[in-house]
Amino acid sequence: MIEKTLSIIKPDGVKAGHTGKIIQIFEEKGFEIKSIKKVHLTKSQAEGFYYVHRERPFFNSLVSFMTEGPVVLMVLSGENAIAGNREIMGATNPKDAKEGTIRKMFAESIERNVVHGSDSPESARFEIPYFFNVFEIL
Ligand code: ADP
Ligand code: MG
Repeated sequence: MIEKTLSIIKPDGVKAGHTGKIIQIFEEKGFEIKSIKKVHLTKSQAEGFYYVHRERPFFNSLVSFMTEGPVVLMVLSGENAIAGNREIMGATNPKDAKEGTIRKMFAESIERNVVHGSDSPESARFEIPYFFNVFEIL
């Protein structure tokens, strides 16, 4: 099934100059970039995006990380794009991430882990329209 998923290159990945390499990986894996933009999230935008994690002990630190610099937001599409993107990203903690995954290659810690990807169709249905309107998805 062709799916759409939300991908974010987080502030650590953007700052380190990994944007181009990460986009290249997605294209080589067969994903289509349906939309892309670079933004500097506000505190309330980051809090709203990570609302499901509001009770977690790392929430404030995560929001502060996600607002420390610009991020690159993308809508990716492809066959099983949601699970496929999670596979390419690797485990949340780069110590557990498989060889060849983005987090294994570029992430420094469980928090500063370079990329976000929707974890389910339900998440994608919330996350894509959180940042993109229908006319921006081509
Ligand atoms: P994922 O991004 O792999 O879906 P989660 O949804 O569990 O992971 O967490 C969202 C983000 O919160 C992670 O990508 C990471 O940046 C941060 N995070 C998760 N767990 C921790 C933790 N134990 N300590 C610090 N930051 C964390
Ligand atoms: Mg998640």
